[in-house]
Amino acid sequence: MDHAEQQHLAGLPFYAPQGGEVALFTHAWRQRMPVLIKGPTGCGKTRFVEHMAARLGRPLVTVSCHDDLGAADLVGRHLIGPQGTEWHDGPLARAVRSGAICYLDEVVEARKDTTVVLHPLADDRRQLPIERTGEQLQAPPGFMLVISYNPGYQNLLKSLKPSTRQRFVALDFGYPDAATERAIVQAEAGVDAGVAAQLVHLAQGLRRLTGHDLEETASTRLLVMAARLAADGLPLRAACRAAIVDALTDDADTAAALAEVVDASL
Ligand code: ADP
Repeated sequence: MDHAEQQHLAGLPFYAPQGGEVALFTHAWRQRMPVLIKGPTGCGKTRFVEHMAARLGRPLVTVSCHDDLGAADLVGRHLIGPQGTEWHDGPLARAVRSGAICYLDEVVEARKDTTVVLHPLADDRRQLPIERTGEQLQAPPGFMLVISYNPGYQNLLKSLKPSTRQRFVALDFGYPDAATERAIVQAEAGVDAGVAAQLVHLAQGLRRLTGHDLEETASTRLLVMAARLAADGLPLRAACRAAIVDALTDDADTAAALAEVVDASL
């Protein structure tokens, strides 16, 4: 990396790459292809998209999808205003009009009717039909659709036609390797290298733990949270109990098993 590039990166949201994802995303954006990021919660997907939007100089519109989110929430709706009924763009329509990067986080959570509006945007047409107003928005070159999902649970992805799904360039994220994760924990929480190393070591122990009814395991996000509590003066074990163990489970037996790993690793 030359000096000019380092200077440029200094003003961007901090992101430690896992592999070739920065180059891949850049190629996809230039080629006007949508991107699908798969990976567990808290592994850096959102931060990556924030970093890439800033790096490419595009505005970012992020939508956290949930099970009640439907097409109208994305596209827009008529609302009663002082002048009567007025059309209000939803975040997806705003992103298309402004040539932004539109990031639909956890898209599998959204209702199935959202696929209808995503289809023509994700393929070569790059169009967003607004049924209610009869408009057909054509996405400008800067626009990019990015969706993420946790392969643990699938739903909307199944309802995307294979032909559409195949238009997405897929990026497969996992937790970063140990050296990268240590660097992230240090940079994000301001802890020293020793504490970062202990936390990453603990995470690796927890991630190996099987046979318990855990939906998720210790993510980079949870490590950063524990590290921030520790940096603020909370003893490291207490920080790990609160930010990692109790965040992962409500089950007393599972919590005891996780706490044992904490006590053995720190
Ligand atoms: P996701 O969107 O996958 O659920 P986030 O991008 O929100 O996860 O990451 C959670 C937190 O973990 C971030 O706020 C950041 O502190 C940290 N983090 C994870 N991966 C990275 C990374 N590669 N570079 C910088 N920070 C990261």
